[in-house]
Parts: sequence; C-alpha cells; structure tokens
Amino acid sequence: MANTSSGQEQKWRRATRLVRGGTERSSHGETSEAIFLTSGYVYDGPAEAEARFKGDAPGFVYSRFGNPTVAMFERRLALLEGAEACKATSTGMAAVFASLMAQLRAGDHVVSSRALFGSCLYIVSDLLPRYGIEVTLVDGTDLAQWQAAFRPDTRCVFLESPSNPTLEVIDLKAVSALAKQCGARLIVDNVFATPLLQPAMDLGADIVVYSATKHIDGQGRCLGGAILSSQAFVDDELLPFLRHTGPSLSPFNAWVLLKGLETLELRVERMCTNALTIANFFEACGEVENVLYPGLESHPQFALAQRQMSAGGTVVSFKLPGGKAAAFDFLDRLQLIDISNNLGDAKSLITHPATTTHQRLEPAERAALGISDGLLRLSVGLEDAEDIKDDLAQALRR
Ligand SMILES: *Cc1c(COP(=O)(O)O)cnc(C)c1O
Repeated sequence: MANTSSGQEQKWRRATRLVRGGTERSSHGETSEAIFLTSGYVYDGPAEAEARFKGDAPGFVYSRFGNPTVAMFERRLALLEGAEACKATSTGMAAVFASLMAQLRAGDHVVSSRALFGSCLYIVSDLLPRYGIEVTLVDGTDLAQWQAAFRPDTRCVFLESPSNPTLEVIDLKAVSALAKQCGARLIVDNVFATPLLQPAMDLGADIVVYSATKHIDGQGRCLGGAILSSQAFVDDELLPFLRHTGPSLSPFNAWVLLKGLETLELRVERMCTNALTIANFFEACGEVENVLYPGLESHPQFALAQRQMSAGGTVVSFKLPGGKAAAFDFLDRLQLIDISNNLGDAKSLITHPATTTHQRLEPAERAALGISDGLLRLSVGLEDAEDIKDDLAQALRR
C-alpha cells in the first residue's frame, strides 16, 4: 500500500507510467485514485500554517495552488513526457496563455508559426501586441523564414505541429537550434501529436503544452490542460503566474484525466491505425481533391514526419471539389460520423474549419493557411475502420 517513490517510477516503462505514475494512495488503500474535492486544507496549528505558506513545510495550502488529485495527474503526465515538472490548467487555452504570459513582458519579441488553432492565433496575433509584445508570424515549414524572423530580443517561439487543420509538420530540432542561438525558449503545442507520438522535449522544446480535453480525456467528458517544463521555469515564472491568476484544474476533472491516461496508449494506437486506413481510402477513392495526413507518402513533410513522429496521428484533413456547398452536402449525408469541432475523441468527429474553428479569419488569411471552403477535418475515432469507411463512402456518392 506504500506510495511509489519517484526513483522507482523513473525505472518504469511507458505503459506502466501511464497506469501507475504519480499515484498517491490515502490511508484507505484505494485501487482507483481518490478525488480530493476540497478547496482548502487544515493545519495542526498556526505555526504549521505559517511554515506551509512560507514553503518551509510540505503540504497543500489551497486548491488554486495545488491539490492531491491534480498533483497525481501532473506527476503522471510529467513522467510520460520525461519533463522535470508539470502544472495542470483548466483548459488547453489556459495552458497556452499561461505558458506565454508567465514569462513575457512589454518590449519582448515572439516568433510563431502562422498555422495555429484559431484561439492560439488570437493570443499571438491579437492579444500579445496589445501588451507591447511584438510578434512575427512565419510559415512554419520554411526554415529560412524562421531564421530571418529571429532577433536578439526574441524571447519565445511558439508553434503547433502537426498544425490544425492542415497538418503541417514543423522541424522541431531545427527550430529549437535557431531559438537556442538567441536564447529564446521554444514552446510546442503538442496536442495533435499527443505525448506518445512526438517526444517534443527530446526534440528540443523547452516548454510543452497540451489540451488534455483532446486525446488525454478522449471521451468527450471534460476540459483540461497542462504545461510541462523544467522545475526552474515552474518555480520561478509559471507558479507565481498560476497562483495569482487562478486557471486551476478542478480535482474532479483531474481524476477523469488520470483515468484517461491509463488507456491513452491503447486508444491513440488504434486511432492512428484507423486514421491511416481512412487516409489511404481517401487517396484511392478518386473523389477527394487532396488528402492531408502526415503518415501518407504524398504529405509534403512525409520524411520529416517519419523522423519526428512514431505515427501520423489521429486526424485526417481532406479537400472536396465544389467548395462550401459540396462540403455541407457531404456533412449532411453522414450517418455515423458526428459533426463536432472536438478531436481526439473515441467517436469519429468531423468539422468544416472555414465556417467553425477558423471563421473569425478574413478569407485571404484562410487562403494563406490553406483552409479552403472545401476543406474538412476528420478526427478518426475508435469505431471499426470499415464502418467509418462505409459512412464516408456513402456520403461521397452523390
Ligand atoms: C483544442 C486545442 C487547444 C485548446 O484546448 P482547449 O482545451 O479546448 O482549451 C489548443 N491547441 C490545440 C492545437 C488544440 O487542438
């Protein structure tokens, strides 16, 4: 019943870490992790309270700062990523925002790839400049653009790979080397790759962020996020920001996400296999203008994806000839696959980015990102691949 020491956990292989990492049993010896649904903690006396507040004694103080169930989730995810430290947040966007705002100040310069999740693009291109932070956006697949964008005052680099929804793959090692030359920190939004397919920290990321809403829950139940980094970044910059601004993960959601981690590898493996089957189906069917999937040889960064990722991921994007009308007709004909903008879910979900996740952009901006009116993004789920294929085939048939 004893809790596992971190030394033992470090020796465990990945599957074991996913199931047991970070577990801290209470005196009842429960098999399933306990939910500590408490906002505060009591102290033996005022001296104990004083010591905990000072950080001189171990123990929790307030659930905005830390909570035992949330801490189990953070430790399990840190073990999985191979990161020194992890802080959980209420959503993926809270993680993205905190990872930037915890360290930036007026006068700093940021370089970011342009092909980003809509809300990430809003933060870097609309919000940061309001606070005197200058941002240069680049085509993430063009190393010359990265190189030209770096300046002596560049403090952070932000990117997403594979990107949403066009699944561009960015060379993490190369961008990390450029960032290091000018002392900038590389933040990687690793949501599409999951912690399993792309070891972002080993590839040079200083900070890795996740929307745990996606594959980590993966069953459409709750929102969550996480930031992984060095212990020094957490202690010196991130923790003060999180403590005083409060984007905390609820203990209940942390518990759901802990349970999600237990089956993450099984789910992601199966979803990747299904996604490759569907990508191959699209390529062979002759009714799709263009298929985007990093696991296909036809993908523009296939060689890089092979080096950097252990599989092509769980999302397949494709363009239908005939623009918005054809895309909407196709969506209306689907019978199994749900129209929804979430991804990484057990259920196959499809979305039309031009009118949903990226509708805020001007048509010219969408065009520059390759988000045409005929583009659809399919998050391939855990159903039998043959049933997913049947549904797509009947919807393609006019
Ligand atoms: C969904 C998503 C986010 C935001 O996560 P939420 O949990 O919805 O806040 C950030 N980045 C990427 C790449 C995403 O797909």
